Amino acid sequence: MQCDEVQRIADLYIDNLLDEESMSAVKRHLFICPTCNHDIETVLTTISLIRSQVQPEQLSPSFKERTTAMLLDKLRDHLHPSQPALSAIQWPLPID
Ligand SMILES: [Zn+2]
Repeated sequence: MQCDEVQRIADLYIDNLLDEESMSAVKRHLFICPTCNHDIETVLTTISLIRSQVQPEQLSPSFKERTTAMLLDKLRDHLHPSQPALSAIQWPLPID
């Protein structure tokens, strides 16, 4: 795997969304490439720092319900039928 390929799928690697073979290929590349390793480590460190400093807000169930309905309505034309329902997607947002 080359640097440009790693950079293209770095977000998926960071979010742990790659298949096992691609995850292994990225890990092998990161082992031998200090540039890509530094880039990904920087992002992971930043995510970790943000998560450690931001406390999840307590939202009322009705707020979550209204927000989900609004997002579904706004994104309806952009969601592919094979994608999981919006309510099933787990976003790493600082809300509980
Ligand atoms: Zn590289």
